[in-house]
Amino acid sequence: MQIIDGKKISAEIKEELKTEIARIISEGKNPPGLVTILVGDDPASSVYVKMKNKACAAIGMYSEIKKLDAETTEEELLKIINEYNNNPKIHGILVQLPLPKHINEDKVIESILPKKDVDGFHPYNVGNLVIGKETFKSCTPYGIVELLRRYNIETKGKHVVVVGRSNIVGKPVANLMLQKEEGANSVVTVCHSAARDLSYFTKQADILIAAIGKANFITEDMVKENVVVIDVGINSIDDPATKKGYRLVGDVDFENVSKKASYITPVPGGVGPMTIAMLLKNTLQAYNLQ
Ligand code: NAP
Repeated sequence: MQIIDGKKISAEIKEELKTEIARIISEGKNPPGLVTILVGDDPASSVYVKMKNKACAAIGMYSEIKKLDAETTEEELLKIINEYNNNPKIHGILVQLPLPKHINEDKVIESILPKKDVDGFHPYNVGNLVIGKETFKSCTPYGIVELLRRYNIETKGKHVVVVGRSNIVGKPVANLMLQKEEGANSVVTVCHSAARDLSYFTKQADILIAAIGKANFITEDMVKENVVVIDVGINSIDDPATKKGYRLVGDVDFENVSKKASYITPVPGGVGPMTIAMLLKNTLQAYNLQ
């Protein structure tokens, strides 16, 4: 069994991006720029935004955090996005989700210029992803594909079973794995909460992608020998033995499933670190496009 080390791979990607940005700057050009817009003061969102900002700085990318208070109206937010759409220093716009309830998330995402939509959530980019055209792939699914690619895991003709059909993980990763191209070309099954006998499907997986949001949900009896396991879940469970009183686990019972797996991502340290690395990669792609 081999651990898929997302921390190591994300560090490699950041190094590659850093070199590329240094080259851009050495030619006297402005670096790629990302703005992260945060509405309200949700503590988890604040942490994510700061992490993204720090990651940009570490590779020489320009970044701004636009903090808006929770009472910001939809109209005000749309106006600010429009300003960034027209700001030549900013190549990528990310609106940290979730937004306060009085703001329509779809409307906000659709207001971002598709060529600056580095989260890959705009329907234009989602549509391009489905039909296999060049697009911004949303960051977590893109990170999963990149992990498989960099570990030379064969995907062609393999049965990929995705558990979860969210718009940010399940659906886009299923669509990516389905494309007739290198690093994909898989036979894909997507499961969700209405699946009658989930094990029937998961046991068929050559590559199992779990994006459920339920701690240790996938157990040893649900997978076959030598399965490749990509665990997207991030769940906090009580653990009095730790300083904080809790710890993070995935959707997969790592301890037991890893005994049967050929490859497996740990939580933390698997898919998680890839998300920011791919956001940075998308921002550089946006810069090159513009
Ligand atoms: P989500 O929107 O809540 O979607 C969960 C999916 O799991 C839904 O499609 C749901 O089915 C399905 N599901 C729930 N219970 C099920 C069951 N008993 N059997 C089969 N399917 C079931 O969650 P998400 O946003 O995709 O996130 C999933 C997990 O990944 C979460 O733990 C999240 O924190 C984590 N995540 C991690 C990253 C990262 O960077 N590593 C990024 C994003 C998300 P229905 O559609 O029928 O409800």
